[in-house]
Amino acid sequence: MGGFKLGKMTLGSLFKKPETVMYPLETKPVPKGLKGCVENNVSACILCGICAKRCPCGAIVVDKKARTWTIDRFRCVQCGTCVAECPKSCLEMNPTRPKVAKEKSLVELHVPEPIAEPLQNPNG
Ligand code: SF4
Ligand code: SF4
Repeated sequence: MGGFKLGKMTLGSLFKKPETVMYPLETKPVPKGLKGCVENNVSACILCGICAKRCPCGAIVVDKKARTWTIDRFRCVQCGTCVAECPKSCLEMNPTRPKVAKEKSLVELHVPEPIAEPLQNPNG
């Protein structure tokens, strides 16, 4: 690259708006097609554990006894397998950026007990 071209580029960049932003203080609009984070609508979850079994990264842990569904967002590669395999369709990809964190942490959700169906009176 000639010195003239290089100088032109350097000078040009002095007057251009920077491509980068002061993330996380400032963010760019979410790009089209961003997969985002796995979210669980726990009211529909039956704690079957299929999502945990299918996850290629071991990012999900389902504890039936404690009624908890846990995801390690630092392990998740956003492949969407858990969302596709959930029999209750309670998982979805939320196209947002995960919150900035200084330390690794797990997201543990408590799955509520299912609401008991009222018993039908056979005599009407
Ligand atoms: S596959 Fe769906 S219903 Fe089963 S534990 Fe996972 S989130 Fe819950
Ligand atoms: S999106 Fe993929 S990597 Fe992330 S939790 Fe679901 S199955 Fe695991």
